[in-house]
Amino acid sequence: MNIILLGPPGAGKGTQAQKLQNDVGIIQLSTGDMLRAAVASGSDLGKKAKAVMERGELVSDELMVGLIKDRISQPDCAKGFILDGFPRTEAQAKALDKMLEEGSHQLDDVIEMEVDEKALTERVVGRFTCAKCGTGYHEKFKPTKVSGVCDVCGSTEFSRRKDDNAETMKTRMAAYRAQTEPLLPYYRARGVLKKVDGMAAMDEVYRQIRAVLAGT
Ligand code: AMP
Repeated sequence: MNIILLGPPGAGKGTQAQKLQNDVGIIQLSTGDMLRAAVASGSDLGKKAKAVMERGELVSDELMVGLIKDRISQPDCAKGFILDGFPRTEAQAKALDKMLEEGSHQLDDVIEMEVDEKALTERVVGRFTCAKCGTGYHEKFKPTKVSGVCDVCGSTEFSRRKDDNAETMKTRMAAYRAQTEPLLPYYRARGVLKKVDGMAAMDEVYRQIRAVLAGT
């Protein structure tokens, strides 16, 4: 099963993709995570992407298509994958179509996470991650059970994304509207677009996604 989660920054794509990966065993392919790992490792890709990401703009299609092409051809993707953060432009969507065709993969569902734009900045500026195990939290919506201690691994170190601030969110939202939103009619026309209510509680969003995947 190969699916795309589509929605603006802060819609909850990463949270839902992680849950799906854990429960269904299909691989989460988060291009944002891949790029952040590349930045942290100081690779050529990371050097090229760092400033663009900090400004909240989109990394070039050429780099992104190359990154995903390498990744989906790896054996762990054979059972299926969840694209989280890709495609983000029409050129990326077309390149993805070609890749899937060449690899004889089909695209099962494109799930739009519909959200109220006004809520997104609050969602994004409050989020933080355990520096050790990567579990995601939010100051208001998903705090740690014990203040300052990761629920999962007990670590007391956390990190925040540099681009998760109100100023950069303006650029990220503008990029979403101009370059990514046009993918909705692109996939709607192909009959693969399904919608879930991204404003619902996390578990309810997940239930809706599972219902889409089950074809109900
Ligand atoms: P995300 O974690 O999905 O919010 O992505 C963080 C940042 O990585 C974005 O603001 C972009 O700068 C970059 N990025 C991630 N995925 C893509 C993509 N498919 N195309 C272009 N830039 C991307």
